[in-house]
Amino acid sequence: MNIDGTTARFKLTKEDWDRIPINTFPSGGRLLSGDWTRIFLSKVKESNPWCSLRFKNNHVRSENSRKMHSAVFFRGGAECKRPECNVKVRFVIQKERGKYVDVTYVGNVCHSSEPGGGDAMTDKRRVKRVRRTYSS
Ligand SMILES: [Zn+2]
Repeated sequence: MNIDGTTARFKLTKEDWDRIPINTFPSGGRLLSGDWTRIFLSKVKESNPWCSLRFKNNHVRSENSRKMHSAVFFRGGAECKRPECNVKVRFVIQKERGKYVDVTYVGNVCHSSEPGGGDAMTDKRRVKRVRRTYSS
């Protein structure tokens, strides 16, 4: 599946944000918490039903960085849990508690959607069977 460079976008409703509290640390840093990974995963499935993703980083613009007008509210990343797959996903939310999440895919899906990856085995067996038929 060729998805390298594909972009997608999903919506976050007010109800979604109600389930995503923003943690503020004494240092001024902030992080999304609560159900955000679950919500993101279920929405990412609409554009990529093949990968099971693991979230890697999650940066929320700190509240008092007014001078950085260009800074986006949220930047995050995820990658596929399957070792044979090199899909990485980038998430960007432009505005504070914005309605849209921009998704960018890097890399291609290197497996079927089947969990456990039993497909390669089945293919090998099929090839063997074909060869046997030819030699006999
Ligand atoms: Zn994958």
